Amino acid sequence: MRLTVIGSAGSTAGPDSPPSCYLIEADHEGRTWRIVLDLGPGTLGPLQRLCDPTAVDAVVVSHGHPDHCADLASLSVLFRYGPAAGEGRAPVPLYGPAGIDRRVVQIAGSEDDRDLEAFAFTAVGAGDRAQVGPFTLDFASAWHPVPANAVRVTGPSVAGGAVSLVYTGDTDRCDTVLDLARGADALLAEAGWAHQAVNPPGIHMTGTQAGELAREAGVRALIVTHVASWVDPAQTLEHAAAAFGAAVTHAHPGAVADL
Ligand SMILES: [Zn+2]
Ligand SMILES: [Zn+2]
Repeated sequence: MRLTVIGSAGSTAGPDSPPSCYLIEADHEGRTWRIVLDLGPGTLGPLQRLCDPTAVDAVVVSHGHPDHCADLASLSVLFRYGPAAGEGRAPVPLYGPAGIDRRVVQIAGSEDDRDLEAFAFTAVGAGDRAQVGPFTLDFASAWHPVPANAVRVTGPSVAGGAVSLVYTGDTDRCDTVLDLARGADALLAEAGWAHQAVNPPGIHMTGTQAGELAREAGVRALIVTHVASWVDPAQTLEHAAAAFGAAVTHAHPGAVADL
């Protein structure tokens, strides 16, 4: 299973990265299967260097904040009018909290539901499981101001056997995400708070909290992401590594992890 970071800037695009988007790929039964985790604004561009976004096996959106879902509307345009339009291609499977499909219509600003034609939507939340080819997706509720999911992706390891990656989405430190992350091979954890000393509850984690979560969950590797776009991630990474008790990596765009 290969993770490629398309965008990782927290909350808004930054000078060096669009916001959240991650591509997960695995070879299975003679072809490459692909899942996209989140589709922040501007990520549809670089995603096309690696695949045809209208032909991925699933898009999983953690929640409805624009830095995680705005390019769903762009994907709808690409599906309906792009090179593959008229091929009768199946709609893209879309998983997310209830109502995420409506975000497509809201962003598109249209008065009908034609923008939804690009997607086959399944609402998912705490305890739900979905199967996408070789990938098993398990969902848990995150702690955020809007309905938000964390997801555990289990799929074939490059070394043989199974491997699991947990993506926190946006969340404050909470036990539901901790339980989802227990024993995972890799934790892709947000650390959105670094720019103020006291943070309001129920929104993001600090680097220290992300590191503590990873240590408590007993994960093998910690990849820190969603550092606020206007913050140098160096200190957040330092705090995360100190709390995790081992080296951590930063999810900069183009970063690849073979799991
Ligand atoms: Zn965010
Ligand atoms: Zn958010």
